[in-house]
Amino acid sequence: MTQLSFFDSHCHLDFPHFEDDRSEVFERMREEGIDRCVSVAVDFDHLSRLQKLAENHDGVWFSAGVHPNHEVNEEPTVDQLCKLSNHVKCVAIGETGMDFFRHHVEPEIQDARFRTHIRAARHVNKPVIVHNREADDASMVILKEEKIEKCGGIMHCFSSGWETAKKALDLGMYISFSGNVTFKRNDELREVARQVPMDRLLIETDSPYLAPVPHRGKRNEPAFVKQVAECIAEVKGISLESIASESTENALRVFKLI
Ligand SMILES: [Zn+2]
Ligand SMILES: [Zn+2]
Repeated sequence: MTQLSFFDSHCHLDFPHFEDDRSEVFERMREEGIDRCVSVAVDFDHLSRLQKLAENHDGVWFSAGVHPNHEVNEEPTVDQLCKLSNHVKCVAIGETGMDFFRHHVEPEIQDARFRTHIRAARHVNKPVIVHNREADDASMVILKEEKIEKCGGIMHCFSSGWETAKKALDLGMYISFSGNVTFKRNDELREVARQVPMDRLLIETDSPYLAPVPHRGKRNEPAFVKQVAECIAEVKGISLESIASESTENALRVFKLI
């Protein structure tokens, strides 16, 4: 059997968690058939590090943006985001969005920051990687008002209910599932994954966080995206081959790589 090929739509390979063994992490990725990934930005401070990583590795792309709960001295501007994302391997704006789980950044500031990112994304015609945590209503209002459908977007590490998934799908967005879809108690999330149409589904690790079962609690890495794929194949009652090929095709489409 030829080896399956996977696309990890969201990881943070530049993080210090990988400082000591990054080359081994890349090796394991290749061995498991994770041929492509997007290493996602959470601030501007480490963007050059991220850019270099993408330049030095085939099949690795990056994004530019500021996380909703990340404290910064100066708020990003549309201009800045347009300039910083102007690179052949920069395929998205984000991660950004709304996060009411922690309270490092005031909701009003998150709101303005999120809108700035979507405006920039529309300008450069790249999708927005959306981080939404315990902020479904606020996120969906902004996505709609700022017309996310004009540039496309991804609800990353999806952890909301079907109602929110449906609203995002109606706006033309993609839904990305991470390791938490494998957690024992998350039946409701698996039910959402079952319902998401195959042509809008993405898989991710969000490494180094949220390692899937059976690696739960350990540092996560892109090689483990296979366990996310296996879980979704099972709940959808389809083959791992289909998940691998269709989620890869979806990622290539949303990141405008085809
Ligand atoms: Zn996130
Ligand atoms: Zn992330």
